[in-house]
Amino acid sequence: MPNHLIDALLAGAATDPAALFARTPDGRRMTRGELATGAARIAGALLTAGVAPGDRVAVQVDKSLEALQLYLGTVMAGGVFLPLNTAYTPAEVQYFLSDATPSVFVCDPGKEAALSQVAAKAGAGRVLTLDAGGKGSLAEAATTAAPLDAPVPRDAEDLAAILYTSGTTGRSKGAMLSHRALLSNSETLRDHWRFTDADVLIHALPIYHTHGLFVASNVALLSGAACVFLKGFDADAILEAMPGATSLMGVPTFYTRLLADDRLTKDRCATMRLFISGSAPLLAETHVAWEQRTGHRILERYGMTETNMNTSNPYDGDRRAGTVGFPLPGVELRIMADGAEVAPGDIGVIEVRGPNVFSGYWQMPEKTAEELRPDGWFITGDLGTLDRDGYVTIVGRAKDLVISGGFNVYPKEVEEAIDELPGVLESAVIGVPHPDFGEGVVAVVVPDGTLELTEDGVVSAIATDLAKFKQPKRVIFLDALPRNTMGKVQKAALRSDYAGLFDA
Ligand code: AMP
Repeated sequence: MPNHLIDALLAGAATDPAALFARTPDGRRMTRGELATGAARIAGALLTAGVAPGDRVAVQVDKSLEALQLYLGTVMAGGVFLPLNTAYTPAEVQYFLSDATPSVFVCDPGKEAALSQVAAKAGAGRVLTLDAGGKGSLAEAATTAAPLDAPVPRDAEDLAAILYTSGTTGRSKGAMLSHRALLSNSETLRDHWRFTDADVLIHALPIYHTHGLFVASNVALLSGAACVFLKGFDADAILEAMPGATSLMGVPTFYTRLLADDRLTKDRCATMRLFISGSAPLLAETHVAWEQRTGHRILERYGMTETNMNTSNPYDGDRRAGTVGFPLPGVELRIMADGAEVAPGDIGVIEVRGPNVFSGYWQMPEKTAEELRPDGWFITGDLGTLDRDGYVTIVGRAKDLVISGGFNVYPKEVEEAIDELPGVLESAVIGVPHPDFGEGVVAVVVPDGTLELTEDGVVSAIATDLAKFKQPKRVIFLDALPRNTMGKVQKAALRSDYAGLFDA
């Protein structure tokens, strides 16, 4: 039996081992053959450390080519790769380790002392280390271990990875991702976005998240594209890499930060063919500004940890700002309210079905049953619309919906009205407990510094566009919105910061 995912991802390493897989700003170059051999050595080390088929290998390490080999090596060894955000504290790591009980946990050597205790308490197995430069006890074990000759057989429904959802409220849930879900989606994206071995992808996303790990890395591996492999977002490095590169995958903050740099010009983008954005909403304004500056229309897509990518704007055809495009080939999508599909243009909860969808939440059958219907439809929790042309627009998360005085307020509608005002850079609209209305609408506004803004000024400026119940009862000014590394605004943090705003 073959190894469903690895056989496909590393097919190019066998046919063209000398082809370049990645280069880094410090001049390092790694061929496809070297990538595969390093992964096979790590797989050998993991087997020696006791990893059996289906075992979890939890990993909290900095981004490096060796960390990518660790992902491939884990799946090659028949294991389940479980990457953790490097920002997680030891207490958070302890939760993930006790929940997933990995047989191996790989961490940075600098954190080994503290995290070994955490791993022991959590009942995790061996602790190995890997640093940002690719050194550590795992790397040592890999140099002495016999490289795995052939990947451990795994079929399409076996698990390849568990990724914990960012979970702003409640316990984080481990999304179980099968070989089938990962491979089918990466193949779809490669074809839809036309990736080939002529591409050079600027890879600046973290590899503990679905975007950088599966969308960027798997698409590059499958298509034969080479990567400029960066540790993270770095405007200098990205701008330097652009001449000669063909594509960039980013979160919206990549694009706003690059726009703030005068070195971003049409000339610099001369060899680029595709800019992709996702993981958080791209402001229509950023889309327009990017096109004016570079001549390229950003292609926005929509996905999530549980489903991989669901929709994408077209490669050829109209990439509409503010929308996330059409369902990808093989992905079904519907918008539901009160148990039925809504009319075109009406708001409801987005549901998706297809080979891309996950297999359930790790050891949480009741959560799985709440969100994954028996007939395969996954209830995403995102609110959206589907217009008559088939474009999907995300309106927000269902849990961010504000219900004020019994009326539904969709934050995005209010945010868009506020964002258009002169002097406003961006805004986030939340609901917080209100003694009369249940929830009161609160707008958190970031000024752009060009005008003096006041609370009354903002409310009166949008009063003609929005019904009274949608208008903010309070406007708070902040220098910046709280965001996580994927560029998502942390609305739960804002709700907790302003929870007492309407207390008597
Ligand atoms: P994650 O599981 O961390 O990838 O987060 C997935 C969530 O990010 C989705 O459920 C959406 O709420 C949001 N998201 C992803 N892509 C987009 C997009 N292009 N526009 C708006 N929200 C997005």
